[in-house]
Amino acid sequence: MNATIDELRESIDEIDLEIVRSLAKRKEITSKILEAKNEADLKLRSEDREAKLLSKVVAVGKQLGLDSHYVANIFYEILDDSLRQQFKSLSLKNCQDLVEVAYHGVSGSYCELAADRFFSKKKIIKKGYKTFDDILEAIADGSVKYGILPVENTLTGDISEVMEPLTRSNLKIVGEEKLRIEHLLLSSEACELGNIKKVYCSSLAYRDCRNFITRLGCEIEFVDDSARAAQIVSERKKIGEVALAGVQAKDLYNLSEVARDIANSSENFIRYLVVSKTEEPVDLRIPAKTAVMIGTNQVAGSLVDCLVVFKQRNINLTKIENRPVPNDPWQEMFYIEFEGNVLNDEVKNCLQELSRCSKFVKMMGSFPSYDVVRTAISQQQDASSATTATATPKKAEKAGKKVSYKLASIDNKETTVIDIRGVKIGGDNDYCVIAGPCSVESEEQIMECAKFAKECGAKMLRGGCYKPRTSPYSFQGMGVDGLKLLNRAGKLYDLPVVTEVMASEDVEVVSEYADVLQIGARNMQNFNLLKAVGTSIRPVLLKRGLSSSLEDLLNAAEYILAHGNQQVILCERGIRTFETATRSTLDISAVPVLKRITHLPIIIDPSHAAGERDLVPPLCYAAKAVGAHGMIVEFHPNPEQALSDGPQALLFPMLKEVMEHLDKVAN
Ligand code: PEP
Ligand code: MN
Repeated sequence: MNATIDELRESIDEIDLEIVRSLAKRKEITSKILEAKNEADLKLRSEDREAKLLSKVVAVGKQLGLDSHYVANIFYEILDDSLRQQFKSLSLKNCQDLVEVAYHGVSGSYCELAADRFFSKKKIIKKGYKTFDDILEAIADGSVKYGILPVENTLTGDISEVMEPLTRSNLKIVGEEKLRIEHLLLSSEACELGNIKKVYCSSLAYRDCRNFITRLGCEIEFVDDSARAAQIVSERKKIGEVALAGVQAKDLYNLSEVARDIANSSENFIRYLVVSKTEEPVDLRIPAKTAVMIGTNQVAGSLVDCLVVFKQRNINLTKIENRPVPNDPWQEMFYIEFEGNVLNDEVKNCLQELSRCSKFVKMMGSFPSYDVVRTAISQQQDASSATTATATPKKAEKAGKKVSYKLASIDNKETTVIDIRGVKIGGDNDYCVIAGPCSVESEEQIMECAKFAKECGAKMLRGGCYKPRTSPYSFQGMGVDGLKLLNRAGKLYDLPVVTEVMASEDVEVVSEYADVLQIGARNMQNFNLLKAVGTSIRPVLLKRGLSSSLEDLLNAAEYILAHGNQQVILCERGIRTFETATRSTLDISAVPVLKRITHLPIIIDPSHAAGERDLVPPLCYAAKAVGAHGMIVEFHPNPEQALSDGPQALLFPMLKEVMEHLDKVAN
């Protein structure tokens, strides 16, 4: 007899508890490892070991039928937490006893939550303060040891209300914390959206959700912080009154949820700084950041002189912000954060050099960095079996030959590397594979494709939502609904997404959901569209027109560059010739030719050139062998049923085989 639902649920509950017990056991062991490392004075982190562990669990997961992205993500979380815990136990060494910590707002505020997270390993007494100035004052006069302050928000930028008094003070930064923010509309009694009369909110939360709140068209009352808004609503118990606050305030004040997903963007984080009266040395084994204020002279190039000091030492800046100088209108100083620890000689030397080229360098402190750089899962690459090798010497334009494109020319710049959420195309970076269906057709289809693309090692996901079809009766694409699905699939599998934009008026909406804007072959000389993407902040994948020369292609790129956007990826996708054996003729020589006349990255689209799936794999290999920076290839779970370009779509096993074989082709 089959097990009943209740019995099955009981088994699941037992497994879940077992997972939690195992995690706790794992944590216990990692703290013992930390002690052992401390005794032996060993490095805290072994990336090599992490890579091996990740590959092992992914491989075992695969054998057991688990998706590798799923397994990898779970273990990344576990490793992140373990590293963060190890770093934390080595930081704030002076904070052994019970200390007082100041946060902004009343109980239930985001800031209080950040304090709980940051000091999770310590014993603290929390005190809420009404204003940011009050917090700074309390630290300065010794009423509290630490204060936690929100300094920037990924939706609306720097929080000047905090940065202004903080940079003016003599307090020191000793830590940082990040929180994902999810605002909710909360009420004490059940309330429909249409019946809302008044919203209580903080000005910061209002900025995040301005579009939604404005559309409600009701009265808005600003209060000091979000938790205070929730507290007021719970005390007044008035029908039609709601608060804009987080889930912790909802639970604390016993409110019910009226709406969620109301921020202007779903990706919303706040970064907090932990501040104290004195500096706290950071163990050199922990990744650290250092913050300084620099006053530059009012002469040409003085900021550049300072920045060069960092560049020469290969020190990465994580933040630079200009701040007004109090009592000195129109003078500038800069708040700078960079990777490094003031106890490190290179950083000491950097600070000395900076003081030589600036009016002042004010040290704000070194502190442990929140971010843990994740280790890549090691791929078994066998470089020795590479079958082909290419080298395309870079040459300037042929002497005396004037070209009409200036910005795209190699005479202007040597190399352009385009960074799309960490995926790099161009220069000496790895061959970058963009894979996906011709068109986004349904949620199921794009999710299946994204999952498989990730599993095979593709770096980005493609999928058309606005389709340039030869016949007006063919499928024209899902439009905005498709963009939303593509965006969701990309987020879920951590793949930046590429999609075509066909009209200038769509650039805004496509930019909202896509990481790269594709200009299709048929639009390569749509100059208004080129100008429109030229003013976008998104990289552009520009396909060569069906009957365009390479010079036409570079002039089209020039339109985009000349309008400000320097992130153009060129794409050879086959041209029209007398040959009818393939859909288009792939001009493979375009790659080495372009590489000697332009600095822009160049990729190949074997799918639209071939038009037939069996011809696609050899062209993929040829693209890599000839030195392309990557390729964009179409595949589909069921090509027979595809709404566009089915005949050229690779079947899933074919994509897998192509990806495996590509490892053996030298670039
Ligand atoms: C596509 O990428 O789906 C497409 C329509 O490409 P092209 O513009 O190269 O024909
Ligand atoms: Mn297509």
